[in-house]
Amino acid sequence: MNRANTLAIIVPCFNEEETLPQTIKTLNELRKKLINQQLINSQSKIIFVNDGSKDKTWKIIEQAHQEEPALCGISLSRNFGHQEALLAGLYNTQADMYITIDADLQDDPSVIKKMIKSYQDGNEIVYGVRRCRDSDSFFKRNSALLFYKLMKLIGVELVSNHADFRLLSQRAVAAMSEFKEKNLFLRAIVPLIGYQSCCVYYNRKPRTAGQTKYPLAKMVLFALKGVSAFSAVPLHFITLCGVFISLLSFILMCWTLWGYLSGSTIIGWASLMSVITFFSGITILFIGIIGEYIASIFVEVKKRPTYIIDKKIGG
Ligand code: UDP
Ligand code: MG
Repeated sequence: MNRANTLAIIVPCFNEEETLPQTIKTLNELRKKLINQQLINSQSKIIFVNDGSKDKTWKIIEQAHQEEPALCGISLSRNFGHQEALLAGLYNTQADMYITIDADLQDDPSVIKKMIKSYQDGNEIVYGVRRCRDSDSFFKRNSALLFYKLMKLIGVELVSNHADFRLLSQRAVAAMSEFKEKNLFLRAIVPLIGYQSCCVYYNRKPRTAGQTKYPLAKMVLFALKGVSAFSAVPLHFITLCGVFISLLSFILMCWTLWGYLSGSTIIGWASLMSVITFFSGITILFIGIIGEYIASIFVEVKKRPTYIIDKKIGG
């Protein structure tokens, strides 16, 4: 039998009074089962992070803790957001391995066992990946596909069809805490940690109760955050456009001059054309150059770790 480690399951909760009682029951039963199977030790716990809920979420968590001390709670002072709630849980809990899972249990908790086995095989990051997107609407399915394609195009490494259902080792969480950025898009930060990782596959179920906390507008903003926090490609694109338009305006100016010299233009046209083409090219080019500096600042202000050591021998 493998050594049994402490597991902490982190569950972000925002107005989840409808789903929480069942989630608490399911996860607690799973915790007991995994302890009995000696896959995790008896110090293993479940941490519910109340992200400024306005309903009875925190009351339910408090009551659960009274009945079972291994069910713990962290309550944030207001609604900070899903990603922030996950970090609050991860950085304020001691464990050997951490699993983050949504409170609505759309992600299948039965694959948690596979994740732990994979951790015991030496993986420090185990991504929960959705096998298919049948439970999603046509729009969500295709917009997600487009998003993954776009992110790949602009050089952001993402695990397709993986959201925030994952296992992280203690070492991986420590490495993640070196990423100091406030603009959080964890699914793009985690692959940057490196370390040995693998995927486990599951079918995502529809929400059993309550409403999604990610309506369309919030989803789009989250996607934009992912682009702007991880890629300076849109800024470099402006520079390239500037170079291209400058070249084009130079050609246009030559053409205008030729028209003027051959006398086939009306008075004022050539000078006006030259000024417009020259300045539009130069303006976009200069915006691009400023963009290049902003891109450098963008990288610097993040204060990301310069490197993360995986193994060391000797020394
Ligand atoms: N959540 C949170 N804070 C927020 C929004 C959501 O903690 O501001 C939690 C929510 O309670 C759930 C998880 O994040 O546990 C994912 O939210 P949801 O299930 O509504 O997203 P969807 O599955 O619809 O993308
Ligand atoms: Mg959900």
